Amino acid sequence: MVTEHYDVIIIGTGAGGGTLANVLAPSGKKILVLERGTFLLKEKANWDSKEVIQKDRYRTSEVWYDKRGKVIHPLTHYFVGGNTKFYGSALYRFRERDFEKVIHKDGISPEWPLKYQDFAPYYTQAERLYEVHGQRGFDPTEPPSNEDYPFPPISHEPYIQQINYALKDKGFHPSYQPLGIKLNEVNRFLSACIRCDTCDGFPCLINAKADADVNGVRPVMVYPNLTLLTEAKVLRLHTSASGREVTKVEAEIAGNCQTFSGNIVVVACGAINSAVLLLKSANDQHPDGLANSSNLVGRNYMAHKIGAIVVLNIKPNPIIYPKTLAINDFYWGEKDFDYPMGHVQSLGNISKERAAINGPPLPSAIYEAVTNRALGWFLMTEDLPDLNNRVRVKDQKIFLDYTNNNEEAFNRLIKRWKHVLKSIESDKKIGLSSLYITTKMSLKDVGHQCGTCLFGEDSKTSVLDINCRTHDVDNLYVVDGSFFPSSAALNPTLTIMANALRVGEHLLERLR
Ligand SMILES: Cc1cc2nc3c(=O)[nH]c(=O)nc-3n(C[C@H](O)[C@H](O)[C@H](O)COP(=O)(O)OP(=O)(O)OC[C@H]3O[C@@H](n4cnc5c(N)ncnc54)[C@H](O)[C@@H]3O)c2cc1C
Ligand code: SF4
Repeated sequence: MVTEHYDVIIIGTGAGGGTLANVLAPSGKKILVLERGTFLLKEKANWDSKEVIQKDRYRTSEVWYDKRGKVIHPLTHYFVGGNTKFYGSALYRFRERDFEKVIHKDGISPEWPLKYQDFAPYYTQAERLYEVHGQRGFDPTEPPSNEDYPFPPISHEPYIQQINYALKDKGFHPSYQPLGIKLNEVNRFLSACIRCDTCDGFPCLINAKADADVNGVRPVMVYPNLTLLTEAKVLRLHTSASGREVTKVEAEIAGNCQTFSGNIVVVACGAINSAVLLLKSANDQHPDGLANSSNLVGRNYMAHKIGAIVVLNIKPNPIIYPKTLAINDFYWGEKDFDYPMGHVQSLGNISKERAAINGPPLPSAIYEAVTNRALGWFLMTEDLPDLNNRVRVKDQKIFLDYTNNNEEAFNRLIKRWKHVLKSIESDKKIGLSSLYITTKMSLKDVGHQCGTCLFGEDSKTSVLDINCRTHDVDNLYVVDGSFFPSSAALNPTLTIMANALRVGEHLLERLR
């Protein structure tokens, strides 16, 4: 039995769903938001590396499988705000060429049906909503914008500043990372953020990170027309006999099954879980999964090729918040390699607990000495869309079929960046680095998931239309990272937020 009827039902409160709720709530329309997680509890453990990194206190205990049936423990989180509760809040605009067809060493990154100029006004709105701190004008790949960032950049700590200068001396173009942390460096008494060493990968104990919970959902909970139900996991969407409308949203709440109906239903569960929900909602009219006449739901799964280089210095280099510097000099390639390579940014603080997870069993003091001398770099190369890289559901189990691509460009970026770092080692203030440790992320690292319900104009070659409405079902939308036709080589979330604002505008028009 259907419990209640709404104008709009939004499923999920991450970058996509939380932002959409923010834009729709002031309309006065009756909105239901269903979120499988709870609000994340404020507790000391929020900033405890042992709890967060070693004990996986907040990560889901769900089990998924790779294409061979091997167990994966996905690095994903179910809370109000979704994975943005844990993100490093590097909020990048994709580059103009990212929206065009780009030839890579290992294949093609397809053209988007909308271009940078279509997203530009929404990027500006998203930067305001998520309080992005940055400075334009340093990065040669930066797309055009009429507006400055709403807040000044987060300053480099002395050690990072030395690296910044050394890179500039070598002719590179280091820039500030655009960040959604609420740090006021002019007046620290008014600052929400305290610039701590547990940000990227941790929730913020004092709500000073601009995430989809704090900046998206909470501000609109004052609207009486918006109802948020937490611990409400949506299990299935049901359609009318024609299959053209979703008529019921079935959710499990406190162990009980409850159903809701809405004029418009928005799936925003993150690229993997949105595909899973559509696939699990197969019925007679949609035998291969809801809105899947194209057979593309779940396909083209992308998550970036991500690597970390940890540089160990002989001298200690104490840093609290190193995640401020970025380099895009190799984004589109380099001399002798006319293919995109990707993006480099300084990584968040490396705790001894994080180091111990990847290293041999040694006393904690050794790890402490090592991490006091460590600086991490985060390298990102575009993951190319591939029909065979897909989210699949079999016997209610979630499978991630994935085969690596674009390895040559990725390896080249890693090698090149090590070479650059070694070339600035001789700078006395930076100190001699003795060891470079490289790690590549694996299938469980699903943080940058996207692409599983791509948008486009043709219902045969895309799942969603350009407003992110499914081609097959009139009142069904998908508003999260699923719509990406390509992954670019920059952190995805600002594009997810900007798109949610764009679709929100369309929905407000439709609801009128
Ligand atoms: C450690 C970490 C660091 C990151 N750092 C950055 C960064 O610096 N910059 C950047 O751009 N990106 C970063 N990301 C990625 C960023 O978090 C994601 O791109 C973003 O959160 C994706 O938004 P989304 O709306 O697609 O999905 P999510 O944020 O995952 O939101 C999905 C929501 O749906 C809910 N949900 C799922 N299934 C159901 C269901 N069946 N019923 C009801 N609710 C459901 C989930 O609980 C969740 O709230 C990082 C991610 C991680 C894990
Ligand atoms: S206080 Fe600032 S640096 Fe620390 S977790 Fe919060 S937003 Fe991040």
